[in-house]
Amino acid sequence: MRSFTCTCGNQLFFDNSICMRCKRDVGWCPCCRAIVDVTTTDDGGFACACCRTLLVKCENYARHNVCNRFVASRKNEGSQSETSQGMFCDCCRFNRIVPDLKVPGNKEKWYRLEAVKRRTIYGLDRVGLPYGTQADGVVPSLIFDFKGDIIPDRRYRQMGPFQKVYTGHDNGVITINIQEADDVEREKLRVNMHEAQRSLLGHFRHEFGHYIWDVLVKGKREADCIALFGDHNNPSYDIALAAYYKDGPKADWLMTYVSAYASSHPWEDFAETFAVYLDMQSSLDTAAHGKLIQPVNPADLDAMVEAYKNLGIALNEMNRTIGLLDFLPEVFADPIHEKLRFIHQLAGISSPNFKTS
Ligand SMILES: [Zn+2]
Ligand SMILES: [Zn+2]
Ligand SMILES: [Zn+2]
Ligand SMILES: [Zn+2]
Repeated sequence: MRSFTCTCGNQLFFDNSICMRCKRDVGWCPCCRAIVDVTTTDDGGFACACCRTLLVKCENYARHNVCNRFVASRKNEGSQSETSQGMFCDCCRFNRIVPDLKVPGNKEKWYRLEAVKRRTIYGLDRVGLPYGTQADGVVPSLIFDFKGDIIPDRRYRQMGPFQKVYTGHDNGVITINIQEADDVEREKLRVNMHEAQRSLLGHFRHEFGHYIWDVLVKGKREADCIALFGDHNNPSYDIALAAYYKDGPKADWLMTYVSAYASSHPWEDFAETFAVYLDMQSSLDTAAHGKLIQPVNPADLDAMVEAYKNLGIALNEMNRTIGLLDFLPEVFADPIHEKLRFIHQLAGISSPNFKTS
């Protein structure tokens, strides 16, 4: 991720919705594909200070302040009037269920969920991975359900069973248990599950891995995928996951998988490796923009893996220096390198014709 610059000269960051120096509204301009400051127009709308496109705030920005994206106004095409009502940005338009805002704390959780969703989608755009709805020509349609566990409230004798929400993906629908946006709860789960890292961003990248499998691998490149990740039909997903939770990960998982959980089933291996691929692409982009490393060609997988390993060694030592968890816990053994290559070949950026923005 790069940083951006306000007209006043202040540095702006990807999550900003206001410039801390000049107090102007800032946000994502879909035309500039950047965080920009905006000027207010006579009729209460906005114009990008950079490209002058007329903009309105995404409804989730205007009404709830959980988004920082603008949408191109219909007035750019000559329409006389409009409101931002019902106009959602390219990240919010996939939401089907959002957290119940009557519940204290849910607004803050939703804010964090949207922030990492935007960051994940920025990463997909950067490397040319597809997402969208059937109307966009993408199958299956991407849908987000952000849900909390249903806990009957005994004070009001409310009846009904406890309903647990599982974070996961099913035929285009990505469900996130909003408790994952609670740092205490997530860290408890990380320790209980013996995970090296557990982050909200990691969940989004993992679940998008399942989604991309359905879009680009299912019925298209399954044989190639089986050769690297194993046969997802045998054993079945349910049997494999039950065995994983009963017996634990495969003994030699470190030499073949990016995480213990990846050894549970080929679909989980694909999703875990996909998340690492996006981590790698994003980390090298950020490191190059921060002048920590020389820019690495994002279309050259071998150069990327080499640079990421070296960056990881340096940043792991940095993190250990101040007592944080390792930045890069994965070990890139040869089988993992080849799995990353398969995912890289699915991304548009591996094509010589792909244009980065
Ligand atoms: Zn400013
Ligand atoms: Zn613009
Ligand atoms: Zn939005
Ligand atoms: Zn999964």
